[in-house]
Amino acid sequence: MFSYRHAFHAGNHADVLKHTALLAVLRHLTLKDTAIHFFDTHAGAGLYRLDGDYAQTSGEAAHGFLQLQAALTPDTVLAPALQDYMDMVASFNPGSSHAIYPGSPFIVQRCLRERDRLRLFELHPTDAKTLKANVAQLDAGRFITVMQEDGFEGLKKFLPPPSRRAFVLCDPSYEIKSDYGRVVDLLTDALKRFATGTYMVWYPIIPRPEAHELPRKLKTLANREGRPWLNATLTVKSSKLTTDDAGETVRPGLPASGVFVINPPHTLKATLHDALKQAAQLLAQGKNKAFEVETGG
Ligand code: SAM
Repeated sequence: MFSYRHAFHAGNHADVLKHTALLAVLRHLTLKDTAIHFFDTHAGAGLYRLDGDYAQTSGEAAHGFLQLQAALTPDTVLAPALQDYMDMVASFNPGSSHAIYPGSPFIVQRCLRERDRLRLFELHPTDAKTLKANVAQLDAGRFITVMQEDGFEGLKKFLPPPSRRAFVLCDPSYEIKSDYGRVVDLLTDALKRFATGTYMVWYPIIPRPEAHELPRKLKTLANREGRPWLNATLTVKSSKLTTDDAGETVRPGLPASGVFVINPPHTLKATLHDALKQAAQLLAQGKNKAFEVETGG
């Protein structure tokens, strides 16, 4: 079984990017009354503790959500999408603590209406069990379904959805190299089944050929299918190896990541531009900070 557990990474800079973009898309899609089916092909555990062992061991949230939180002063005016994201996390933490961090299923659950549906795939037995327990507390009935299945395969049986409106988040751990190819296969198949759905893929920006090629392959796919796309990236530090006092090579950890959206809301480019410009400033670890929001199709 895989060793990846999102609890080590919850609230890091990649989650800030992904969950800010996720929320911005959801806000737009729920403006319309028609029911929407939301699919999370790699859902994780749903809720995380930032004061728990996993988060404390990795310290990743300290350079993500918690860094943003600490940078705020009474005079800070956040870009609306970033403010929305901060408010969403705060809504899980009554009072002044920041102990709970909501994963994508819980962010989505807060945005959807009774007529909408939320389908969650999580393959890891422990995280699937935790997710089921977390979701059970919501007493949401048929509104939310948790499936301990391979999300790459499982999605197929739900497309096209009865309401003809769908939003798919594909957020693999990329722990195995084949995940990169499977993301492209999933989108190729999904666009054939349901060309007008909104699809969001998160990907790491790391020095690995498969990672480098993924956004290029997704652009080629979207262009070939005649679908509009958006690619947004956030860089918070240098990708260079450094050396510590003992002469040991230190890897920088994840320096940057991106979200690729097919059929994005027309407002998303401007919304993310403002949010990521500010996020890059507030999350920078040194001089290597950057953001980009590119569209096409
Ligand atoms: N989407 C979550 C969020 O934003 O809160 C985080 C998901 S995490 C990056 C990826 C998750 O996918 C892990 O919990 C992992 O166990 C799970 N996973 C790995 N391979 C999978 C597969 N083929 N199908 C479904 N889940 C998978």
